[in-house]
Amino acid sequence: MPKSYTALKALKNNSEASLYIHIPFCNSKCSYCDFFSVTDHSLMSRVLDKTMEQIAGYIDYFGIKSIPTVYIGGGTPTSLPLTLLEKLLTFVGKLPLEGDAECTIEANPETVTSDLLSLLSGSCINRLSLGIQSFSNHTLKTLGRHCDFKTNFLKLELIKTKWQGQLSLDLISSIPGQSVSDSVEDIDTAVSFKPDHISLYALTLEEGTPLARLFSDNPDAIDDNVWIIAADHLEVSGYHRYEVSNFALPGHQSKHNTRYWKLQPYIGAGAGGVSTLHDGEGLFRIANVPDLERYLAGSGLLCGAETEEVTGKSYIFEYLMMGLRMTAGILKSDFHNTFGREIADIIPETLSNWKERGLVSERENEVALTKQGLLLLNQFLLDALSELE
Ligand code: SF4
Repeated sequence: MPKSYTALKALKNNSEASLYIHIPFCNSKCSYCDFFSVTDHSLMSRVLDKTMEQIAGYIDYFGIKSIPTVYIGGGTPTSLPLTLLEKLLTFVGKLPLEGDAECTIEANPETVTSDLLSLLSGSCINRLSLGIQSFSNHTLKTLGRHCDFKTNFLKLELIKTKWQGQLSLDLISSIPGQSVSDSVEDIDTAVSFKPDHISLYALTLEEGTPLARLFSDNPDAIDDNVWIIAADHLEVSGYHRYEVSNFALPGHQSKHNTRYWKLQPYIGAGAGGVSTLHDGEGLFRIANVPDLERYLAGSGLLCGAETEEVTGKSYIFEYLMMGLRMTAGILKSDFHNTFGREIADIIPETLSNWKERGLVSERENEVALTKQGLLLLNQFLLDALSELE
C-alpha cells in the first residue's frame, strides 16, 4: 500500500479546517503573474461544478465539522458571471461555517459593479480583497494590469458607498521605474479610503513571466529599498505590520492567512488549489493539477492530485519558515507541543548568534525576528537549515 494512501486515511478527523477555493480564470493575464489562471472561459461552468463536488467530497471524507475561514482566490473569482458566482456562494453558505467565519473573496477593480457588491452583501462573504496594485497609470502599464488610476479610484469610491464588510487592498512596490515617492503616493491614496487591511508586496520577477523576460538582463531594475521605505510609511500611517508584507488596523489581521502561517489545516479545492492537512506525523499536502482538462478528467477523492508528506526536519523547517514571517513570531509552547522538543534545543547556535546581533528577540514564550531580522529571513532560514542537517 503506498505510504501516501496510509497517510490519507490518517487525515480523517481533521474536524476543523479552513477552505481555499481556487478560481483559475482571469479576464487578462498580468505580466508579472505566475499563478495558475487562464483567460479562456469556455470550461468555467464545468470546472466550478467539479470544484464544488471536490469540496463536498473532502468535507465528507475528512470529517470536517467546522470551517473557521474561507478564501476564494485565483485567478479572479469575480470574473465568474454573477449567476455562477451566486451558485458558488450559495453552496459555500451551506457548508459548516463557524458562526463568525471570515469569508474573503478576491476581486479586481474592473470587475466591481453595484450588482456584484449586492450579491456579495447578501452572501456569506464578509471580506473583500481588492487587487489595486498601484494608482499610477505608468506602473499599472508596466505590470500589464488592465485598469488605470481612474478605474481603481472610482471602484474604490463605489465600494466605500456600497460595501459594509471588511476591505483589504493589495499593493505592489519596487516595480521597475517606480520611485520611493511614487510608492508612498500609492500608499497615501490607498490609506485615504481607510481599508481595514493592506498587503504591500515587493515585486519579484517570477521565472517565465513576460516581466521577468523584459528585465532578464537588468535585475537591478528592482530596488528593494523602495519597498522597505514604503512599508515604513505604511506603518507610520497607522497600519500595524503583523507579517512580512501584511499590515492591518487593530483587530483586522487576516484570520485565513494567519492560519496558513501557523500551518493550521486547510483544504484547497479547484484546479491548482493546494490542501495542507495534519496526518499525525506531520503535514500532508495535496496539490490539485494546474490544468483544467486534467482536473476535469480526474476521478476519485483526489481528482489526480499530487500528494506529499512533510515530516521530520522538513516539517520543522516549514514551521520556522512560515511562523517567523509573522512579527509576533512563534510560540515556544506551540513548538514544543508540535515537535516534543524545545526550539532552543533544535537550533541553539542560530538562535544565540542572531540574538547577539539583535536580529532575533526572545520573550518568555515567544521567539521572533526583529524588524531588521525580518529583512534577512531567508538568511536565518539557511542558518537554521544547516543546523538542522
Ligand atoms: S488578475 Fe491576478 S491572478 Fe489574474 S493574471 Fe493578474 S495577477 Fe494573476
